[in-house]
Amino acid sequence: MKNILVLHTGGTISMQENEQTGSVSPTIENPLLSYARQLDKLANLITKQPFHLPSPHITVSNMLELKILIEQETRKKSIDGVVITHGTDTLEETAYFLDLTLQTDIPIIVTGAMRSINEVGSDGLYNFISSVRVACTQEARGKGVLVVLNDEIHTAANVTKTHTSNVSTFQSPQYGPIGIVTKREIVFHHKSLFSEKYTLNNITKRVTLVKTYAGMEADLFDAIHDLQYDGVVIEALGQGNLPPYCMSGIKKIISSNIPIVLVSRCFNGIAQDVYDYDGGGRQLKEMGVIFCNGLNGQKARIKLLVALTHTNDFKQLNDIFSIA
Ligand code: ASP
Repeated sequence: MKNILVLHTGGTISMQENEQTGSVSPTIENPLLSYARQLDKLANLITKQPFHLPSPHITVSNMLELKILIEQETRKKSIDGVVITHGTDTLEETAYFLDLTLQTDIPIIVTGAMRSINEVGSDGLYNFISSVRVACTQEARGKGVLVVLNDEIHTAANVTKTHTSNVSTFQSPQYGPIGIVTKREIVFHHKSLFSEKYTLNNITKRVTLVKTYAGMEADLFDAIHDLQYDGVVIEALGQGNLPPYCMSGIKKIISSNIPIVLVSRCFNGIAQDVYDYDGGGRQLKEMGVIFCNGLNGQKARIKLLVALTHTNDFKQLNDIFSIA
């Protein structure tokens, strides 16, 4: 039987609905802990609960704590796979952080739920069982961190939460899932061509994320500059353009040697320096704005945080962000 390390971190998957008020909140005891025995037939579960947080409370320090815990546990014991239960709001950020920084081939699965444990149609236990099954599968090895919910297997790099409440919220726009979970088996039908790994011992930098909009002015960028962030990710318009009224703020940030990584606020496609007008992608690229190949804003922020622990050289960052 496989040894699966289970790390419960909180989220709706371990919350309960108040039947009188309809509010959903964490309980003192994580209800998922009492299900461990029901999963005995699937695998030998080694369960830990490093924290019990709604995922909007998760920070990059928590992500780092998980990475270190996984490294420690897999060094100490023979672990065949890891399942992490997590709130869905920031699940994709934790999954991508671990994907970038864990240097292991064993399956690492992140899962969550859209309905708490006592709600009608609760998806938590189901997703948890699916994730343990995927973690036990030989084919899941070497595929990086995977996100398993609603019978689908997604890569950490591509998956995103797309719906506020629907159980099929996790989608990989443009790419789709790389596998499915059926009653009988786990089927992988695609494989990602990209894999990147960074060593990381601590996170000391601060990176912010800004979404652009029609008519946006420079004041927010001026403030970011004055707040001395170490890096900025911008969700730009369309193919990678900004309103011209922002440009003085952008120039200020770049001339202070603070890297700006640009992604598109469109959730399909890749930002590129195509348009040649004031605020257009060509001008931005010439100024030193780093175009990111295909990540969404929140994941580009995670990647910039990780990359900045290695370099703040614009040329090197450009190379790091030109791979997906
Ligand atoms: N707000 C919840 C959280 O992220 C949502 C969920 O877990 O589905 O903790």
